[in-house]
Amino acid sequence: MNGEKRVFLGLLSILIVLMSSGIFFLFYIVRSKSSILYNFLIGFVILLFSVITIILIFTVIGFLYLVYRRKNNKALNKALLLLIDMAYPFLEILGDILGLKKEKIQQSFTNVNNFLVRLRKNKYLPEELLILMPHCIQFNECKFKVTNDIDNCRRCGKCQVGELVKLKEKYGVKIAIATGGTLARKAVMDTKPKAIIAIACERDLTSGILDVKKIPVYGIINIRPYGPCFNTKVDLDEVEKAIINFTNGG
Ligand code: SF4
Repeated sequence: MNGEKRVFLGLLSILIVLMSSGIFFLFYIVRSKSSILYNFLIGFVILLFSVITIILIFTVIGFLYLVYRRKNNKALNKALLLLIDMAYPFLEILGDILGLKKEKIQQSFTNVNNFLVRLRKNKYLPEELLILMPHCIQFNECKFKVTNDIDNCRRCGKCQVGELVKLKEKYGVKIAIATGGTLARKAVMDTKPKAIIAIACERDLTSGILDVKKIPVYGIINIRPYGPCFNTKVDLDEVEKAIINFTNGG
């Protein structure tokens, strides 16, 4: 298992330890207080904590099972994708308290999500696949409006949009460039894909993956040689590999 997955699983494990300690502490309080109502309320919290802890333990064990078995289990995969989405906000808070960089947690979350999506080995028709990317991938001085229609790109080579258009033509997939979350959501609604390959920074990828519930999203973190949101790049081999994985090579 690579280091990026470990960050997410490590935080999950710490959360399990904290929840378990909380349960023991609450048991201690119940034993030392005699009020029935008080004990009832604490008992309810213990029950709630116990259920959450069992779910978290199930998530870690289930994930490790898939990692080491390298074979998909449809129901388990679906449950884990749901559970990691639910656990993410708590892990982000915990990571913050522990002084971990948010970017690290987001990278790890994307990695865990991608592992589960890849393991499904679901295949789609090229036209059912949408590649979604941010506007900052376009050369900042380019005057052609590729957000409306990517085919407006003149493939001058000053940015990678031209290369991405070539991938679109080679495999027949759909591509959309969005200037923000609202337009990204609109692109998804308009094209109705069955799977998405999303290219973005850690923050936008995480919120996109959490946002799209019903279809698999494979996240590719962009490259930012000039800082955030400016003339960004993407590993084109990684994009092509993801297309091939989703479509059987078109
Ligand atoms: S490759 Fe396309 S989008 Fe990029 S600068 Fe050239 S014309 Fe503009």
